[in-house]
Amino acid sequence: MKNKMDFEVIIVGGSYAGLSAALTLGRSLRRVLVIDSGKPCNSPTPHSHNFITQDGMAPREIAEAAKAQVLKYNTVEFHHGLAISGTKTEGGFEIKTHGNGTFTAQKLLFATGVFDIMPDIDGFAACWGKSVLHCPYCHGYEARHQKIGLLGNGPMTFEFCRHLSNWSGQLVLFTNGKSTLTREETAKIRSHQIEVIEKEILAFEHREGYLDKVVFSDGSDHQVSALFARAEFKQHCDIPAQMGCELTEHGLIKTDEFQRTSLPGIFAAGDNVSFFRAVSIAAASGTKAGAAINKELIEESF
Ligand SMILES: Cc1cc2nc3c(=O)[nH]c(=O)nc-3n(C[C@H](O)[C@H](O)[C@H](O)COP(=O)(O)OP(=O)(O)OC[C@H]3O[C@@H](n4cnc5c(N)ncnc54)[C@H](O)[C@@H]3O)c2cc1C
Repeated sequence: MKNKMDFEVIIVGGSYAGLSAALTLGRSLRRVLVIDSGKPCNSPTPHSHNFITQDGMAPREIAEAAKAQVLKYNTVEFHHGLAISGTKTEGGFEIKTHGNGTFTAQKLLFATGVFDIMPDIDGFAACWGKSVLHCPYCHGYEARHQKIGLLGNGPMTFEFCRHLSNWSGQLVLFTNGKSTLTREETAKIRSHQIEVIEKEILAFEHREGYLDKVVFSDGSDHQVSALFARAEFKQHCDIPAQMGCELTEHGLIKTDEFQRTSLPGIFAAGDNVSFFRAVSIAAASGTKAGAAINKELIEESF
């Protein structure tokens, strides 16, 4: 592996967004290094849905096929490892990796995703991606017409609840403590035969990640076969923020429509910039970043 200013672009994060950018850049004859630590956010889920040509495939299969296609371009290299720091240099940027790797390039792309923070409910983490689900477009069809739950409280819950009612007429809202929905929201939800349960949740009882019931602190329980929930998240990689890239108030990396961050020469794509978390959208933003980076490199040399 090279150790000097050998690359035109370093992509930190080699999952869907990063590999899509690498494909675009490889096909633009760019010398690219992809650095990836191999921890995509969807690894707990057995099947990935709603991406045309890939529907129902295992997340790893999609990534492996993508990697094999990208590495056919001989200007693209892949380094399995963790990037631990980034600095601005005179001609571009330097990235250091765990184990003393130092790599430099003219442009940087962070396609590092986000890290989901599991709430302190026994069984939640074990069910995440299998029967505790983040997105109805990814997993709603598989739970259709079943008795499903929504774990939520506060401002966005009404909207999520209304949305989920599209997939199942047997929906239960668990607010895990006193509901903070407005009286009008609660009335509207109940008018659609959606039960609202305000009891405090103790645990999710499950078999190998497949939910049986929600158990409450008072000892009672409620049977559901799947449950939707929004987990808190943080940036998977702190380097963009450490380098000075601006974040939004929600903790996403701020970018413009060409995936440029607030710092010249640094781009970001995928889940780390968007609330709309889907493999197809991450791939699309990676493609956009790749094209934008290539355009900048052309403009700087022409
Ligand atoms: C449980 C679950 C199930 C999902 N199911 C679906 C589904 O069915 N359909 C769908 O379309 N979407 C689904 N999604 C959403 C989808 O997985 C994401 O939108 C997509 O993975 C985002 O791609 P990404 O490349 O931006 O980030 P990720 O796929 O999360 O990849 C980020 C990569 O960056 C690497 N990385 C991070 N920091 C560093 C560092 N410092 N150095 C080196 N590498 C680093 C990570 O190891 C990882 O490989 C699901 C998400 C979750 C959480």
